[in-house]
Amino acid sequence: MIEDVRSGTRAFLTEAERWSAQNYRPLPVVLERGEGVWVWDVEGNRYLDMLAAYSALNQGHRHPRIVRAAIDQLDRLTVTSRAFHNDQMGPFLHELCRLAGFQKALPMNTGAEAVETALKMVRKWGHEVKGVPENQGEIIVCEGNFAGRTITIISFSSEEQYRAGFGPFTPGFRTIPYGDAGALEEAIGERTVGFLVEPIQGEGGVVVPPDGYLREVREICDRHRVALMADEIQTGLGRTGRLFCCDWENVRPDVLILGKALGGGVYPVSAVVADAEHMDVFRPGDHGSTFGGNPLAAAIGLASLKVIVEEDLPRRAAELGAWFLDRLRSVESPHVAEVRGKGLMIGVVIAESSGPARAFCEALMARGILAKETHHQVVRFAPPLTIGKDILEDALEAIAPVLRGDGVAFTT
Ligand SMILES: *Cc1c(COP(=O)(O)O)cnc(C)c1O
Repeated sequence: MIEDVRSGTRAFLTEAERWSAQNYRPLPVVLERGEGVWVWDVEGNRYLDMLAAYSALNQGHRHPRIVRAAIDQLDRLTVTSRAFHNDQMGPFLHELCRLAGFQKALPMNTGAEAVETALKMVRKWGHEVKGVPENQGEIIVCEGNFAGRTITIISFSSEEQYRAGFGPFTPGFRTIPYGDAGALEEAIGERTVGFLVEPIQGEGGVVVPPDGYLREVREICDRHRVALMADEIQTGLGRTGRLFCCDWENVRPDVLILGKALGGGVYPVSAVVADAEHMDVFRPGDHGSTFGGNPLAAAIGLASLKVIVEEDLPRRAAELGAWFLDRLRSVESPHVAEVRGKGLMIGVVIAESSGPARAFCEALMARGILAKETHHQVVRFAPPLTIGKDILEDALEAIAPVLRGDGVAFTT
């Protein structure tokens, strides 16, 4: 693929490869501008962004209302630290809690920090409120989970590469199969304090659990007084066709973890949302973040939420997603093993015999579509939720031939 890349691009690739740690293997495209669902590379080529920064861009690139809020706030006050109050954090968290239907929120920056915050909260709750001996609480997680890259979070990853060489690991986690409510019931013991679950596994390969799974899990957690933590960092904020993916089954977790689109594609903003029973285990000095809840983040977070609600992005995702899923399923190809997803979070599983999904992503790029493989065999389609049906229709014209093998550099 690199051989096809023209000279302007090559200079940037060479420089980045020389100076950047090699912890990623990006597609060989160098972007310099974005607007809505579109991005442009340094050669002036336009691409449809169907990754949307892993759902950090549900509102699209540089949404005018979010950029406006950011600029206005840049002109007033940016960072204060939590040593002082600022006039933006309260209104942001108030709106977040109102939309999510919870009593309190704790603002952080990245998704991994929000997950860590939730784990700390539930461990402490388990001791102080549930009465599990101190430092002995156990948290149950699922195979195939993705919750970030900190040492504690990779401690419970089932992905060998995420862990290899990074130990020693944090204890206190127990892994069960995903989508199996019976396994949760069996795994719960006297020291279990929480269950962490993604309503749909994103990085795990867009894995959709059986219908009713979340409802069963909710019931089991209630029965054993286990805190249900929903990691909706990727599924939340409209992506799957509801404001939160748990809404599909009318399930209210005890702890809701948000990030990515909470920053509107402009800034890292994450948060943990819960009721007082869980949140109030945090007392002054227990936990914190220098940048968490800063006025710039809060202004952007509030604008990001308003765009999602006022532009009805969950409903758009539901309607367009159902239609798009259907159209993708109608593509007949020996290379496609399965098409799955919900809303505009869709995974096309490439047959093992057709080689890794990466070659399909490279062929899509050559046709002006940016998508990225996840979990080796899955091409994920998750465009900004602001996308128009006409644009998706055109995209299908480019996607269908690639799924049938056109322009794919097969390695097997
Ligand atoms: C992306 C993601 C995270 C981690 O978020 P970062 O901002 O990269 O730390 C956690 N959980 C899920 C489900 C994610 O998709």
